[in-house]
Amino acid sequence: MAEGYMGRILLVDLSTGEISEEIIPDGIYENYLSGTGLAAYILYNMIPAGANPLGPENVLGFVSGILTGTGSLFAGRWMVVGKSPLTGGWGDANCGGNFSPAIKRCGYDGIFFKGSSEKPVYLYVKNGKAGLCDASHLWGKDAVESEEMLIRETGGKSRVALIGPAGENLSLISGIVNDGGRIAARSGLGAVMGSKKLKAVVLDGAKRIPVHDRDKIKKLSKKCNKWVQFQPPLPAGPVMGHVGTLMRVLPTQMAMNGMLYKFLLRKWGTGSMNQMSIEMGDSPIRNWLCSNVDFDLGKSISANPDVFADCESVKYHCYSCPLGCGGICTTKGKFTETHKPEYESVIALGGLCMNDDADSILYLNELLNRAGMDTISAGATVAFAIECYERGILTKEDTDGLELIWGNSYAIVELIRKMIKREGIGDLLADGSKVAAEKIGRGSNRYAIHAGGQELAMHDGRNDPGYALHYSVEPAPGRHTIGSQMYYEMFQLWKVVKGLPRMWPLYFKSRKYVANEKKAAMGAACSKFMNVVNGAGLCLFGTFIGAKRIPTFDWLNAATGWSKTPEEYMRIGERVQTLKQVFNIKQGINPVDYKLSSRAVGKPPLKEGANESRTVNIEKMMSDYWTQFGWDRKTGNPTPEALKEFGIEV
Ligand code: SF4
Repeated sequence: MAEGYMGRILLVDLSTGEISEEIIPDGIYENYLSGTGLAAYILYNMIPAGANPLGPENVLGFVSGILTGTGSLFAGRWMVVGKSPLTGGWGDANCGGNFSPAIKRCGYDGIFFKGSSEKPVYLYVKNGKAGLCDASHLWGKDAVESEEMLIRETGGKSRVALIGPAGENLSLISGIVNDGGRIAARSGLGAVMGSKKLKAVVLDGAKRIPVHDRDKIKKLSKKCNKWVQFQPPLPAGPVMGHVGTLMRVLPTQMAMNGMLYKFLLRKWGTGSMNQMSIEMGDSPIRNWLCSNVDFDLGKSISANPDVFADCESVKYHCYSCPLGCGGICTTKGKFTETHKPEYESVIALGGLCMNDDADSILYLNELLNRAGMDTISAGATVAFAIECYERGILTKEDTDGLELIWGNSYAIVELIRKMIKREGIGDLLADGSKVAAEKIGRGSNRYAIHAGGQELAMHDGRNDPGYALHYSVEPAPGRHTIGSQMYYEMFQLWKVVKGLPRMWPLYFKSRKYVANEKKAAMGAACSKFMNVVNGAGLCLFGTFIGAKRIPTFDWLNAATGWSKTPEEYMRIGERVQTLKQVFNIKQGINPVDYKLSSRAVGKPPLKEGANESRTVNIEKMMSDYWTQFGWDRKTGNPTPEALKEFGIEV
């Protein structure tokens, strides 16, 4: 009997209009959990080899997690999945807000779309009835405006996930938006939704979510909440820059305790990291050409977390989150407000392009959210274009007259407007830097910094090689949401999972740059654990507080009635990782090709700054990581033995 999960999915064929339910056997949840694990199982079986990601044979899924709606904390993430048109392989993205419980309240763990509609439609599910409705009047409208219209049209209570103009225009760096401009941005899945002419998924359900032991969950959540609510006073924002300086110059490093990060997150959101990350060498600057040296911290007003926190008019929490890192900022200009910009957005639209104008970042944040375009990939693609311009590969004729030089905030804004509309040079850049470099030629591919076609997140592997590893080995490459050395330190998994390497509270920084088996075991543990987290529907930031304080495995047992050990859950995470890798191989991906761009691993090494002279031994790290899964260490292909162990048939 389904407990924790709903035990069924909704299948929508947009070509025929047919809508059906499918019961999912309990054994599938026991083997893959829900969320991205369940989705990997379904997509692997449904999407044929070599499917066109923008064709009717691709399947797009919206999934919730096992813990969503059970009373567990931080359990409000929803995930979108499909074959990525940006990488050609496994694609997923996730977001908070209130959409995840809405999927389960309609009675499903996931809603999957195949085929494609001839005209714009949206799916509307209410009181157990699902139907496709005409969305022609919404096509061309931005995501925030369309969401407001849909909520009004459907009685005021619906939860909506939808695309903006970027997804409609099939931009390969477009995402899917919910809750007034929040976005599941990565993997280019907005374009998949656009290719299916599916404008929105509108949900209004009231089904009860079955839970095995609600009292146990309540007790676990109460204990966890005590850790979340503990919050000492913090100094003013600019102090964070000095903390970053100390982290850069000291030969030793403190293992990051997630409670410290939680303090920062609660006060400023992810923007707390802006100045600190720039100073310590975590933030890539000027298209990864340098670290802290070239973006003067003193002048960097846009990096000071207080700049965005000071214009915050409302703080908000996602569903079931006791922390609340989100906020709405009041802004000048066309938009009167925007979501508080995340660290990733500030650095991608700021330091990466040498743009120090906070107002332009606030404006672009809202413009991109409404358009449904990924701020990371958009900023990284602009940085690529600027470098091409500065090197004479692109000229003013190519850029429609824009003077595309470092830090020209006017040109950056105009260029992104063009990318959203696919207008002039914007059409060339709307599919990300790799595709643009292939079209431009003339050696420009050296300046497109990506892994497997996806622009890298704003964490420099030359500072923390764990990021470089996960950018290169994850089935959805280029992402910062799975692992790094710092994540491993904060997860503190060795405290609850037997056999994992422990971290000492203080260590010599030089140890961080040695590639060895211990690092591979840490990387593999992050991947496995995050598959559990994404099956549970938990927020990554919650898990940073540490495995002893966030009872992921105990919550899962209490919700489902299972009695699995942490080690058994990690095995499930390993099975999901193996299936996603097999999904990629089925789709023709060579795992070796996901290795990130040379510049981002210090080839050639930087001559100055925080990451001076560092080169990441990425080839050895990738091989060592694959060995941890029992996969072929040269090719990254799961071996027949590894597949047999998990009962995966190819
Ligand atoms: S920590 Fe932030 S992103 Fe995560 S669930 Fe809470 S409010 Fe949402």
